[in-house]
Amino acid sequence: MSHSLQSPSEQNTLTGVLQSVATITGQRDRDLMARTLVSTLAELIHSNRIAMYRILPTDQGEEAILVAETCNHPDNATALPDVHISIRNRPDFNSVFHSGKECIQFADNKACLAVYPIIGKHGVAGLFEIVSDALDDMDKHLVLAFLKVYSNYLTVLDESETDTLTGLLNRRTFDNNIEKIIAEYSAADDAQIGSGSQHPVRRKDALALPHWLAIIDIDHFKRINDKFGHLYGDEVLLLLSRNMQRIFRQRDKLFRFGGEEFIVVLDRTSEENAKTVLNRFRMAIEQYHFPQIGKVTISIGFVRLDKVDVSSAIVGRADQALYYAKHHGRNQVCFYEDLVARGELAGEHYSDDMQLF
Ligand code: GH3
Ligand code: MG
Ligand code: MG
Repeated sequence: MSHSLQSPSEQNTLTGVLQSVATITGQRDRDLMARTLVSTLAELIHSNRIAMYRILPTDQGEEAILVAETCNHPDNATALPDVHISIRNRPDFNSVFHSGKECIQFADNKACLAVYPIIGKHGVAGLFEIVSDALDDMDKHLVLAFLKVYSNYLTVLDESETDTLTGLLNRRTFDNNIEKIIAEYSAADDAQIGSGSQHPVRRKDALALPHWLAIIDIDHFKRINDKFGHLYGDEVLLLLSRNMQRIFRQRDKLFRFGGEEFIVVLDRTSEENAKTVLNRFRMAIEQYHFPQIGKVTISIGFVRLDKVDVSSAIVGRADQALYYAKHHGRNQVCFYEDLVARGELAGEHYSDDMQLF
């Protein structure tokens, strides 16, 4: 029995599909992956428009945020409009989000609107939308196959970015994320330097509230390990992480930075609010009953992220504030800039000494 040879055009399509899969899975940046997937499928299937959305949980319910689309500007990320759609206001989005199944609607003229779920580690993580007047069965198979590969890859990527004990983001992910946030500030600075009137939106961004970086360290954790054993120590790390996930907002990024140290990058907010949120977390831990162990406290040092700097310098400043908290009674939140203003910390000129090494 011999297999029939494929025609050159079929071979071209197959090679093209495989190359597209290789391109998508060769990336680590989710937005870039989304754009590649959208532009690849736009070439392979009959469509008028393809768009991809990320699901963002908010206090008012889930929102679909546009991350890639083909239309007038394929591959042009900077031209992407800032689209947030409340899931509740789009019955098809709502149905796909809650059922995890695609929804394909036809109009009289055979035009169709198809919405597919993108499944992540914790359920539907995104939505894939196709507007087409000629979507055939082959197209639908291709979309499903691509979305399956994409979802599988997303799951592997999610797992590689999280810490196995706590499920929080790991240290490597911190390094990548912080560079991205710093780049955001650097872009805002550039926009301010550039001719103002041409960049009204970016200028507004540049003036927006800052992010905040906090290092959280468990007080006397060694004593917990010594008294109760390493397994109970691990249990404390796990319960502390659960409390972090419960108390901080979805948009705040939570990392296990090392052994018993955690980092929270607070999404843009005021200084007053950053202090309130971090103190609320500190008090919640103080009041939390850890089974067998009882009371555990934490110390926190934090800094503002409002200017461009290398991540090691930012973490170094938060660490100085943490160190101060540890040496002034523990179980407290210390703000680096406050300590410098009060003369408790020396500020930046310590870096002169560091150049000696
Ligand atoms: P301080 O209040 O000054 O922070 O005191 P500490 O005892 O918490 O600090 P120290 O740095 O002396 O001790 C940290 C301990 O954390 C030592 C190490 O054995 C323990 N540790 C680090 N990673 C893990 C882990 O994954 N599991 C457990 N159970 N313990 C860990
Ligand atoms: Mg420590
Ligand atoms: Mg400690």
